[in-house]
Amino acid sequence: MVNRIKALEVISQKLEPLGSQRSHWNSTVQNYADNFLDDFNQHTTYVVSETMGKEIYDFPIEEKAKPIEEVLKCLKDNVDTPNLNPASGGHFGYIPGGGVFTTALGDYLAAVTNRYAGIFFACPGGVRMENMLLRWMCNMVGYPSSALGNLTSGGSIANLSAITTARDAMGIKSKDIDRCVIYMTGQLHHCVQKSLRIAGMRESIVRYIPMDEHYKMIPNKLSLQIAEDKANGLLPFIVFGSAGTTDTGAIDPLESIGIIAKENDLWFHVDAAYGGFFMLSDTYKPVFKGVELSDSIAIDPHKGLFLSYGIGAILIKNTKALYQTHHYTANYMQDAFTLDEDPSPADLSPELTKHFRGLRMWISLQLLGVAPFRAALEEKILLCQYFYKEVQKLGFEVGPEPDLSIAIFRYVPKIGNANTFNQRIVAQIMQDGRIFLSSTTLDGVYWIRFAVLSFRTHLEQVDLALRLLKKLV
Ligand SMILES: *Cc1c(COP(=O)(O)O)cnc(C)c1O
Repeated sequence: MVNRIKALEVISQKLEPLGSQRSHWNSTVQNYADNFLDDFNQHTTYVVSETMGKEIYDFPIEEKAKPIEEVLKCLKDNVDTPNLNPASGGHFGYIPGGGVFTTALGDYLAAVTNRYAGIFFACPGGVRMENMLLRWMCNMVGYPSSALGNLTSGGSIANLSAITTARDAMGIKSKDIDRCVIYMTGQLHHCVQKSLRIAGMRESIVRYIPMDEHYKMIPNKLSLQIAEDKANGLLPFIVFGSAGTTDTGAIDPLESIGIIAKENDLWFHVDAAYGGFFMLSDTYKPVFKGVELSDSIAIDPHKGLFLSYGIGAILIKNTKALYQTHHYTANYMQDAFTLDEDPSPADLSPELTKHFRGLRMWISLQLLGVAPFRAALEEKILLCQYFYKEVQKLGFEVGPEPDLSIAIFRYVPKIGNANTFNQRIVAQIMQDGRIFLSSTTLDGVYWIRFAVLSFRTHLEQVDLALRLLKKLV
């Protein structure tokens, strides 16, 4: 047996590469990353590809190790080239972000050290770091110092955590589900619907509150609907507000909604996944007035803080409610609960073992400081306002004046179908590839969306977009 153990040890030791091997891999990966970043001007934002990464199947997982050069070539050809390049400053589709380089440094160190920041006992410093980031965001939105939350993988999971917490905090049992009423507008992000289903609330009643011409909830209609539902013996439960909708970047009248929620004992959740970090700017913070009246907020550092994909956050006023929904004990965890000076993420989230995702955010804020983030956010708003003005000079029709950094626009041709015409513009922009635009449909009308949120988007990219649009129409 000992001989067999020793023989296996010789093979398994390959999992711990020697120093020389490590430096070769490190420098090759670093070189790849540097080339990616240095080449940005030649990068296209969208690459129309024949194979769409299919050749990755010709590069099988095998017993035998492969050289890093071959592995990275496969990555480059199949993964990092075809279709959308969300790291590009020409990315104006969906919700961009970019992915600041310091995220990679944080992830690299988190992976090398593999600290376990899920439980205070294991890594008190890491838990304090994550809680410090959450308190920093809670402070930004105007929550009290007792508020906390959890760093999630993204906005969808943040919204899910808020919904399950609200369900439990409001004492909703399965027998109540079909009498529960949920209030939102048709512009709320679809991940909330998904979360409601996951949270077992598929059979609850959803009321779509009418919106004004800026696609914002009309508070008076909300009040009337709640009153009617109460009179009919239903259980008004939660109201959702958006602090930056995905379609148009609209911010609902949060203060009025917050007051109505309080008067009627409803949970008030704000989806600020896209717009939340604009609150860093004193100039734009006032448009979020009333956000502090909410019970919970979803916010995405991988959008408004430009971090690479994989970090969202749920912020919650009543930390205990988050705890009551998510904590659990188990015999095999008995050593872990003795020392907690600061709440453990494992007690505030469905996750137990988790990525130490706080480090990427902490190291980014520490190495760069907050000032450039704030400046970039203000720059994005102004770039969007600039685009909104300039695109009209080219003869395009525009949607509502943007609250944040998303504008919608379309060209109405003298003859022919406007929807088809604008679809063709988007298709041709994709063929060109230097920039990327996505679209939406509002009340049956096809609109092109212009979403500015990559830290790499500056005046140059916006002017390029305008030149291309001019040429196309
Ligand atoms: C992006 C987004 C979400 C979903 O967040 P993910 O991080 O993509 O899971 C939810 N709501 C809004 C408003 C968003 O923009």
